Amino acid sequence: VTFDVFTDCPVRTFFSNKTHGDMKNSEQNRLEFVKALGLNPKLLFGAEQQVHGKEVFWVTKDNLETKIECDAFITKEPGIIVSVRVADCLPVYVYDPEKKAVAMIHAGWKGLAQNIIKEAVIQLGKPENIRAAVGPCIQSCHFEVTGELARVFAKYPQAIESRDNKIFIDLPKIAQTQLLSLGLKAENIELSNKCTYDSEDLFSHRQNKGKETETMLAGIQLNYTSSS
Ligand SMILES: [Zn+2]
Repeated sequence: VTFDVFTDCPVRTFFSNKTHGDMKNSEQNRLEFVKALGLNPKLLFGAEQQVHGKEVFWVTKDNLETKIECDAFITKEPGIIVSVRVADCLPVYVYDPEKKAVAMIHAGWKGLAQNIIKEAVIQLGKPENIRAAVGPCIQSCHFEVTGELARVFAKYPQAIESRDNKIFIDLPKIAQTQLLSLGLKAENIELSNKCTYDSEDLFSHRQNKGKETETMLAGIQLNYTSSS
């Protein structure tokens, strides 16, 4: 997957699909996928467990082996691939040209409600320079919610839609609103309009009725040149 906001930025982004297999329970699938992209699987970092929290972890070559329960990762080291696993939740890719850092965030509704995007972005440089993209996730066409959940996001009325006596939430719009309020420029934010529920090539937790479900791998890497 590529995003226009990262054009001319020294980053590489990716998002797997069903053909690459489940990225949650199979380390082998993760390593093979990364290798097929021409990246070094030894530099792939992801959480042992994603917990819908708001902690942020800085990844370096010295702590790459850390087993951690966390949902947001930042690295300044070229070559290191920070990744998250998603199947409806939002994969948020971030590049900060000032600190020359990248961040990868797993943000479901719980993460958005806890402002996990903010927790990561405030650790970076000036927001007006930061670029961010939200990858494929469940879109408002299929994210039907209860009135109780809609109330959690009452301060984002523009992201709450009513259709046929049902309530739907536009999670990417909430992420966009949060990024704008942090000071990012509108033109530096990109939202994928691909819905995981609708896309036959993608895994979707909701589509799978909440059964143990497979996930995709989303990641970002500061470009690595073997000569450096
Ligand atoms: Zn949909």
